[in-house]
Amino acid sequence: MKSHAKAVVIGGGVVGCSVLYHLAKAGWTDILLIERSELTSGSSWHAAGGFHTLNGDPNVAKLQAYTVQLYKEIEEISGQSCSLHLTGGVMMADTPERMDFLRLAHAKGRYLGMDTELITPSEAKAMFPLMDETNFVGAMWDPVEGHLDPSGTTHAYAKAARKLGAEIVLRNRVVELTQEVDGTWNVVTEQGTVKAEHVVNCGGLWAREIGRMVGVELPVLAMEHMYLLTEPMPEVEEFNKSTGREMIGVLDFKGEIYTRQERNGILLGTYEKACKPWSPVNTPWDFGHELLQPDIDRIAPSLEIGFKHFPGIEKAGIKQIINGPFTFALDGNPLVGPVQGLTNFWCACAVMAGFSQGGGVGLALSNWMVHGDPGFDVWGMDVARFGEWATLRYTNAKVRENYSRRFSIRFPNEELPAARPAQTTPLYDTMLANNAVMGDSWGLETPLWFAPKGSEPKDVVSFHRSNDFGPIGEEVRATREKVGVTEIANFAKYEVSGPGAEDFLNRLMTNRMPKTGRIVLTPMLNEFGRLIGDFTIAKAGEERFMIWGSSAAQKYHMRWFEKHLPKDGPRASEVRIHRFDQTLVGLSIAGPKSRDLLQKLVDVDISTKAFRFMDFREMAVGGAPCMVNRITYTGDLGYEIWMAPAYQRLVYKAIKEAGEEFGLIDFGMRALLSMRLEKNFPTWFRELRPIYGPFEGSMDRFIKLEKNDFIGREAAAREQAAGPKLRRVSFIVDAADADVMGDEPIWAKVGGKDYGTVEKPHGYGAPRFDAGGKEVRGSNAAEGASAVRGIVDGDWRVVGWITSGGYAHYVEKSMAQGYVPAALAENESAGLFEIEILGHRRPARINVEPPFDPSGERMRT
Ligand SMILES: Cc1cc2nc3c(=O)[nH]c(=O)nc-3n(C[C@H](O)[C@H](O)[C@H](O)COP(=O)(O)OP(=O)(O)OC[C@H]3O[C@@H](n4cnc5c(N)ncnc54)[C@H](O)[C@@H]3O)c2cc1C
Repeated sequence: MKSHAKAVVIGGGVVGCSVLYHLAKAGWTDILLIERSELTSGSSWHAAGGFHTLNGDPNVAKLQAYTVQLYKEIEEISGQSCSLHLTGGVMMADTPERMDFLRLAHAKGRYLGMDTELITPSEAKAMFPLMDETNFVGAMWDPVEGHLDPSGTTHAYAKAARKLGAEIVLRNRVVELTQEVDGTWNVVTEQGTVKAEHVVNCGGLWAREIGRMVGVELPVLAMEHMYLLTEPMPEVEEFNKSTGREMIGVLDFKGEIYTRQERNGILLGTYEKACKPWSPVNTPWDFGHELLQPDIDRIAPSLEIGFKHFPGIEKAGIKQIINGPFTFALDGNPLVGPVQGLTNFWCACAVMAGFSQGGGVGLALSNWMVHGDPGFDVWGMDVARFGEWATLRYTNAKVRENYSRRFSIRFPNEELPAARPAQTTPLYDTMLANNAVMGDSWGLETPLWFAPKGSEPKDVVSFHRSNDFGPIGEEVRATREKVGVTEIANFAKYEVSGPGAEDFLNRLMTNRMPKTGRIVLTPMLNEFGRLIGDFTIAKAGEERFMIWGSSAAQKYHMRWFEKHLPKDGPRASEVRIHRFDQTLVGLSIAGPKSRDLLQKLVDVDISTKAFRFMDFREMAVGGAPCMVNRITYTGDLGYEIWMAPAYQRLVYKAIKEAGEEFGLIDFGMRALLSMRLEKNFPTWFRELRPIYGPFEGSMDRFIKLEKNDFIGREAAAREQAAGPKLRRVSFIVDAADADVMGDEPIWAKVGGKDYGTVEKPHGYGAPRFDAGGKEVRGSNAAEGASAVRGIVDGDWRVVGWITSGGYAHYVEKSMAQGYVPAALAENESAGLFEIEILGHRRPARINVEPPFDPSGERMRT
């Protein structure tokens, strides 16, 4: 074994081997994979080997499609077969709600380049005759599904990596990881120590233990998983003979089961409700190529549904039941990327569908390590997406919840209950007493809306408008007409201070930093000129800035901030960053009476001239020391008031008492989001994401190209000079009883006209490599874009996609935001656009000016 390596990959499962292959392909050949036992000694060897492209997150779906298409490439390079069976598959819906879900998934597929098709149960039966089609109302066909040989595939990656120069060491456990002051890792193994610049945790079932070697508790848990194999079945053989085809894969929502042909019989796997974690605290190091004891009672309820839906299978004898463990993160997607707070320690673990996702994970991670950027929008699997609240027990509860509803529909207004409440603010009990329906916002309980007194505070989950519609409307109207108060503790809050603070922020942000006591809004870009953040920044003192941003992106942003801190020399101590998390909480008041209300609680003049729009001031509110911003996301006259948690109850009580004479109402997050819609305000991770440039995102007025040389400036200047290809726009939709949810296709009546690319970008100009390992460098947003096929209907064409939307209660309109080709973005003509909601195309019209207070008069008064 060599003593030095550029990178050490720990773990020789399918994921470790894919990472190794992609690193070697990207030109890093001084790399070493260290495996405790033989390759595939974790969960990889006994996987069912199924693969598919569908994923709730379109960007993860895209990386899954890449994985499937990669198998030919590694077979060619390695000479090792993956035994690929591309059979195609169907998802079966047994209720109208599940059919709505399939319609949504199919609609998304329209701009993701997927050839999915909605089909009848009888059509599905023709491809899988073992089913009783009367149990179903419809289905969706996906041609890019199938199965492969898990061991052959892992070895194909490994052999291909070796051919490109990578080294693999077997039967050697990594026992310790330490880091030198200069950042070099000591990878201590049973066979000696390797010094490495980078370490990658691909430990699969032991990823948690490897995390602990560097002081990190990764939110990952192994679950027992069972599938059964039947004896050979004459019906299967007969089908193969008469059609010349293999039977397809079938996914049954109701039973939470999947099934497909395996040799001459059937393989049927379950995601049972009574699921069981495996080794919930520590994974034994001596666990090898062994299976767990099957427990048929546990999967009996799923089998009962399975046999009812697929009576052909019930008749067959069961040859074997496989029970093996594999890992999950809280939401079922992988944990990939650099771990915040550490240098050059990378993760590629919690990959629960290694044979659908392994390739995409390897590509994104190798891009990130070699080029400093994943090159794709990988937020859906970024290791930074969970906070400190995702402890061992929290993870256990959430993973069990996720497993037991693996194929269940999640409705857009559905909040999942496991591991809640976790974090609460001092107002939690008060909000419950006010009949709040609470939601989870990055682990924090947050009021979503307030149910009328006497009614149960509970969402009726639905794809359509639901029981929150009326109450939210009242919250919005009362706020817009009088005044409302809401909790905003869930925002991210940071302080950047020190003599180098202003220079540091000027280098990171696209807008100029404000003068003391003033606020600016500013995006943040990466080197490729893509949006990676959107912040509100106040200059609180000569060397002190307060920053507010997206709650879910706190670790993601801290990682970026830390990466760009001055590292050495005299400037190293000049910038300090502090993330407050829940040590700073907030309340926002908004509406025409909000100034009169606040004036009653403070001892300073807050008249229009004395405390202007976009001013920041520290002042006592109701006797408590607070920071106050004269700005709110409602787009109305209003204030954000920030305080230590110990003061939050005092301030809230004072606001409530003072507000009585003005008709003050409590409002929740959903009312806030409704109000931002009628102001055309974007949201982070919906409208604004790393796949978009700042001009595409219509953030033009916050991009000051003429100021200093900020990160991403050159690329942004190029985007502006060439003209953005896409633009974020706002729509008014002629909806019925359902509003857009996000990811719906936008149709336009374009006739024969060409409005440029209509493809959804997934990458953004980071280097990529073709099958021969040659670098392919793109420079525009369409890099890595999905191919759009089969989405023309006469004069109509899919030209874009929705990012978010809902009902704007004050202006009484259904609204949406999304991206269309720039040439169409200013076109407000009626009859030009339609947006597909739950499979039905609804007329829509671009509205360039926000329908509420277009001149911004209300905010400024
Ligand atoms: C019953 C079952 C059915 C499944 N069906 C499917 C399916 O149909 N499709 C699909 O895509 N996925 C399926 N999976 C999941 C799939 O197996 C996993 O997604 C995949 O194996 C994860 O691979 P990995 O490389 O991350 O982890 P692992 O396969 O667990 O590999 C981790 C490796 O790291 C090594 N290692 C750990 N710690 C150290 C150390 N300290 N030093 C050196 N080496 C170390 C281990 O020995 C192991 O070889 C199934 C899993 C099970 C159990």
